Amino acid sequence: MRIDKYLAHALNVGRTDVKKMLKAKRVQVDGQIIKDGKFQVTEQTVRVDNRVITYQENFYYLLHKPQGVVTATKDASQRTVMDLFSAADYRADLYPVGRLDKDTTGLLLITNDGPLGHKLLSPKKHVAKTYLATVAGELTLSGLERLRTGLELKNGEQTQPAQVQVREQDPKNEASLVEITIHEGKYHQVKRMFAAISCRVVELKRLTMGSLSLPADLPPGAYRPLTDLELAQLK
Ligand code: URA
Repeated sequence: MRIDKYLAHALNVGRTDVKKMLKAKRVQVDGQIIKDGKFQVTEQTVRVDNRVITYQENFYYLLHKPQGVVTATKDASQRTVMDLFSAADYRADLYPVGRLDKDTTGLLLITNDGPLGHKLLSPKKHVAKTYLATVAGELTLSGLERLRTGLELKNGEQTQPAQVQVREQDPKNEASLVEITIHEGKYHQVKRMFAAISCRVVELKRLTMGSLSLPADLPPGAYRPLTDLELAQLK
């Protein structure tokens, strides 16, 4: 790989910054000052200002999405999940895998690994996603059964079977807690599934996606890199 590409990716900076570093003789490969951006790096040790620069191709973060930010990489008027990243961690190639509504909270994977994101979102893979829904309206046995077997949404789309557990049934039918696991990713799917049984989702939080779980100690708005184990299990 060319040294300018290597450094731009590893240091998360633009090619112009790399050019300046090279010109200022700050870059060494195996102890030799390199000024040419085309220089090929293979197995050598790369240093900038005497600091060894290791190369990492892919980055994986687990974000606890808070309410009020949109799941996008850029937006003209609204805060995005990428705005939650510090300048040191932000990279232009990071993107959220899948989409949570602006008012939905919970687990969101952010990565620059295109193939992995693609795999997790592929309808063929049926990756399970578990949500905790706070629901208003009466949860009837027949309604819950319809969620479990698969139902027709108001626009005629059909859903696959879901796993549904009522965690807390509110006697006033204003805020029952339901855990629901779906294996597909239709637009506003959970809200529309509850709407089909005449209930309204008032709060929604994603707890899991595939093998990933939202860590209990990760507050809304915070993120951290995936652990090696989380990554190995996800791949
Ligand atoms: N289903 C929804 O309705 N909204 C989400 O954000 C995720 C799943």
